[in-house]
Amino acid sequence: MWFRPARRAQEGRARDGRARRRRPHRVPSTDGPSPGVRRRSLGTTGALASVLLALGAFTIGGSAVTTEQARRHSQALDVDAWFSEAGNAIAQDEVHVRHYQVEPSVAVLDRYRATAARVLPALRHAMARDPEGAGKDAQRLMGEQEAYRRLADCLLALVADSDPTAVGLDRIGVTPAYYTLQEDIDEVSRAYHARAQSQSVAMRRGATRMLIGTSAGFVIGLGLVAVIWRMVLGYQRRLVQDAYASQHLALHDPLTGLPNRVLFRRRLGDSLAAHAEGEPMGTAVLGRSDRRDRQLAVMIIDLNGFKAVNDTLGHQAGDELLVEVGRRLRASAREDDLVARLGGDEFAVLVPDLSSPAEALAIAERFAGALRHDFGLAEGLASVSGSIGVTVGAAGGDAEELVRQADAAMYRAKSDGGGVTLFERGTDSSAPDRMTLFGELRALLDAGDPEGQLELHFQPQVRLADSSVTEVEALVRWRHPTRGLLLPAAFLSIAESRGLEIPLTYHLLDIAVAHAARWQAAGHPLTVAVNVSSRCLLDGAFVPRVQAALVRTGLPRHLIKVELTEGSVMTEPERSRETLRQIRDEGVKVSIDDFGTGFSSLLQLKQLPADELKIDRSFVRWLRPDTEDFVLVRSVIELARNLGLTVVAEGIESLDTLELLADLGCDLVQGFALSEPVPDEALLNACEQARQRCRSASWSALPGPRSPG
Ligand code: C2E
Ligand code: CA
Ligand code: CA
Repeated sequence: MWFRPARRAQEGRARDGRARRRRPHRVPSTDGPSPGVRRRSLGTTGALASVLLALGAFTIGGSAVTTEQARRHSQALDVDAWFSEAGNAIAQDEVHVRHYQVEPSVAVLDRYRATAARVLPALRHAMARDPEGAGKDAQRLMGEQEAYRRLADCLLALVADSDPTAVGLDRIGVTPAYYTLQEDIDEVSRAYHARAQSQSVAMRRGATRMLIGTSAGFVIGLGLVAVIWRMVLGYQRRLVQDAYASQHLALHDPLTGLPNRVLFRRRLGDSLAAHAEGEPMGTAVLGRSDRRDRQLAVMIIDLNGFKAVNDTLGHQAGDELLVEVGRRLRASAREDDLVARLGGDEFAVLVPDLSSPAEALAIAERFAGALRHDFGLAEGLASVSGSIGVTVGAAGGDAEELVRQADAAMYRAKSDGGGVTLFERGTDSSAPDRMTLFGELRALLDAGDPEGQLELHFQPQVRLADSSVTEVEALVRWRHPTRGLLLPAAFLSIAESRGLEIPLTYHLLDIAVAHAARWQAAGHPLTVAVNVSSRCLLDGAFVPRVQAALVRTGLPRHLIKVELTEGSVMTEPERSRETLRQIRDEGVKVSIDDFGTGFSSLLQLKQLPADELKIDRSFVRWLRPDTEDFVLVRSVIELARNLGLTVVAEGIESLDTLELLADLGCDLVQGFALSEPVPDEALLNACEQARQRCRSASWSALPGPRSPG
């Protein structure tokens, strides 16, 4: 069970709400990249896309140009080659013509014809390869070749005929035609060669441009990729940071920045598990068996007086104080200790490694000391203190149980007026059932018991002098939704061992006073005796609570009586007596309950500000003359009379005892023999029954009330 009373949780939530508005601890936003970052990343990605597109276009364009240049280059080379072939054939023809003039044989003539036949196809090839550029040149050269061929053929015929004009024809016809043709063809061939070369230069230049262009594009692209990569990394880092921030937010209190309940619970579980494995969290080197011997402590710290700070100095001051409390606790803790804020004004500390409970107590005392100093807030000086519950656990312990124990010890500390209290297993038999009951009772009181599960039954007290009933004792009952009607024995000790008795007493006090006020208004003025827990005597709120209840209901003060056990005045006699004095000054009667069991000395009894002694039922129950009980009861009554106190005998189980008590001078009697405690609606009948039974007792058959003593 890990709960906090609803009201406190709500208070905590309200404070947290304010705290969230103030946000003293910076919490990074968790919503995506900022518009600036988004714009920048879009821009960069766009730029990268443009660069890639440009690079692609450049490469495609570049390779188209290069292909065209390569085509032209090879075309020019081809044309050049065909023109060179034609030039070579013409040169060989000329050689054959000269050879024939020296040796006019058929073989030479055949060779001449064969080479001459190569010229025209070569020129046609050149023309076909580049009809536009080479067409004209080829056609002109073909014409020139035709002319040369005709002249050469003519010359060869003259030579064959040994015609002397052949020399003249050669000189003025064939030779000039040959040179013209050869020069022309050389020139054309050179032109194409030059063109091929310039194409090759252009190609080289284009390749260089491509190289530079693609390299530049590649470098720019690479740069942009780097920028995008950086942005992606940055974004990733931000995501990680944001994830961390939201995790931090989920596990920490936004006001103080301390771990919250969830993280505290988690760390406690981890610590217990680590202990179970023999590895206390964050400890120095220890032997494995040493580690198993070590313990951990859980502390719950609740502030006393925090509400007053909020009420007088304002919530802003309350928040400031909580922050400072967190800081002081952190500063007083050791490095490995975990200080958390559970909510509201409640903090918790996990001490993960301890050698003994004494060490835990020493640490807790440090916390208490740190909180004792005044808090200098912007709104003024404030002072609070801490109620610190400490429990010590070991390997494999139950986290929930430890927190419950520390919580119970904290309540104990609170009802002792603050300071440090160690949870003691022995005194608080921690049966889960008791724990459950405790939790239910606390929740009930915290919620103000809206269904009225806690009710009072009343037991009449009969005045022996006249058998009248003017007083009743209020006794608590818990109408539990599943367990039925519970008597005080079933739950009072649980409440008392864990500090719930103060709120319980105040709650019942209000109910009792309200009942008494109703009876009085209905014409049945009955004094109601309210059982008050001893710790209330040390609680500064006790007297004001009684006053407030009286003022609220308008009940006359003499119609209320507080019952305190003899022992309850012994813890801090001075303070307790002072409280009782104040109560009596208010006009409220004080009764000392269970008298005879507390061994108070005569002197103590004399100093006690009381109006009444209630002799404990253990002495009354078997009261017979000449017994030890009889002697004791007699002495108590005598003593009380000497001190001017009223005497009540409780636990009357037999009407026979009434005569003895009347003889001894007892004033009031109460017990099952007269009436059991009954609910409000049965009270008038019960009073009547008690009266009649008292009268019916043998001794009262005597006329008139007996004067005691
Ligand atoms: P107590 O103050 O001594 O109350 C008297 C107890 O004796 C009551 O028990 C009552 O029912 C019982 N009783 C009455 N007549 C007889 C009898 O003839 N014989 C016997 N054997 N018992 C008798 P109950 O109601 O169970 O209360 C037990 C104790 O619980 C009370 O003892 C008182 O100490 C405490 N208590 C009861 N109500 C309250 C309460 O409202 N507040 C606080 N703080 N304590 C309460
Ligand atoms: Ca009582
Ligand atoms: Ca009693």
